[in-house]
Amino acid sequence: MSREPRTPGPPDDVVIVGGGAAGLGLAHRLAASGHPSVTLVDAPEGPLRPPERTWCYWARRPGDFDEFDEAVTASWSRLRVHGTDGHAITVDPAPLTYRMLRSADFERLVHSRLARSPGVRVLRATADTVHRTADGAEVRCTTPDGRTLSLPARYVFDSRPRRPLPPARTRLVQHFRGWFVHTDTDRFDPEVADLMDFRVPQPAHGLAFGYVLPLAPDRALVEYTEFSRTPLTPAAYDAALTHYSRDVLALGSYTVESVEQGAIPMTDARFERRTGPSVFRIGTAGGATRPATGYTFAAVQRQSRAVAASLRTGRAAVPPPHGRRALAMDAVLLRALDTGRINGPDFFTALFRRVPPERLLRFLDGGTSPREEWSIGLRTPVRAMLRTALELPFLPRRSPFAPHPGERDR
Ligand SMILES: Cc1cc2nc3c(=O)[nH]c(=O)nc-3n(C[C@H](O)[C@H](O)[C@H](O)COP(=O)(O)OP(=O)(O)OC[C@H]3O[C@@H](n4cnc5c(N)ncnc54)[C@H](O)[C@@H]3O)c2cc1C
Repeated sequence: MSREPRTPGPPDDVVIVGGGAAGLGLAHRLAASGHPSVTLVDAPEGPLRPPERTWCYWARRPGDFDEFDEAVTASWSRLRVHGTDGHAITVDPAPLTYRMLRSADFERLVHSRLARSPGVRVLRATADTVHRTADGAEVRCTTPDGRTLSLPARYVFDSRPRRPLPPARTRLVQHFRGWFVHTDTDRFDPEVADLMDFRVPQPAHGLAFGYVLPLAPDRALVEYTEFSRTPLTPAAYDAALTHYSRDVLALGSYTVESVEQGAIPMTDARFERRTGPSVFRIGTAGGATRPATGYTFAAVQRQSRAVAASLRTGRAAVPPPHGRRALAMDAVLLRALDTGRINGPDFFTALFRRVPPERLLRFLDGGTSPREEWSIGLRTPVRAMLRTALELPFLPRRSPFAPHPGERDR
């Protein structure tokens, strides 16, 4: 959906750049709180617009993100992890459920709400520059018909992807390809999502797992994922997916109805959230991707809520999407994985086996107390993690020589 650009007029209070998970989430929050003057600028169809994706997150029902329920494709009350030895651990993270949205459904839902909000307009244009002005900031953009527009605003929230990524000590990528499969016979249990299935051959560096989200007894999203330094070719993902579907899941005869592929940076880089007095970065560009898991969606929605609340008080504040302790622990884990000091499949399998599931998911959302985190830490390979923690402060964060490998797919 797109509405005609307003001709130049009074400055907006807020301009949001980028209409993905973060930009839409913030626009939705501001519309819901009746914010009087918001422009959302999203790139027109073309290379800047990411392909359709699925976004998963866990949520308390009712309670968290109920307003997006209409766009939820599926949800699961039980989660399963398979160790490399084939042993399965099935857990019930009640009161949390795991939920899946498709980005196109989310976009449709939010755009329909924005269309009913008199204070919000949506502009299809490419944002070229964002710079500060005496009264705030200005976004210069180009419309699909080649016109240049200048959008002055009191505050700008920018979610355009960052290239290259900031300096880091560890630069891994969570990269994956998934098939939406339709099997000839019923093969899936729609109640159970397989979060990590380590029964796949493990790469020489990093780790690999299957991920299965059943949508019906004969339909599922089946993914092959690696945490490593470089994405694979489509042919290599397809070979891994064929092996996983045929030899591990024994799906029998199936058709692939559509494909999703992506790469998410897993890095201990520091992401600036404020690039000028009135200019903020949000979303992945502002560090909302949790380094150790790649999950981003729920964090950006929580952050949007906080930004909308701050704007209601008359000033903008963008709280950090993840706490310091969470980022410090993730930095240790990423380096321990990257150096091969810990065995990734054993590490994650042990966490699911030994930590109560609701606590583990809350931990991944940064919602645990130091005491709970201490007890989770004791369930990890303590010696290897401690050694890594002790060396991290002495390692410099280095700039990448080339764009982060995880950005090639985006
Ligand atoms: C395939 C895939 C699956 C994922 N699955 C999950 C998941 O299940 N759960 C989870 O929590 N996270 C997931 N992630 C990670 C993360 O949630 C997503 O990457 C999420 O889209 C990040 O939100 P964002 O708003 O920061 O960026 P995006 O959603 O990528 O939005 C950026 C927006 O900026 C716009 N844009 C870019 N350049 C310009 C420009 N110059 N002018 C105007 N607009 C511009 C683009 O059109 C786009 O709409 C996934 C990522 C990928 C790639």
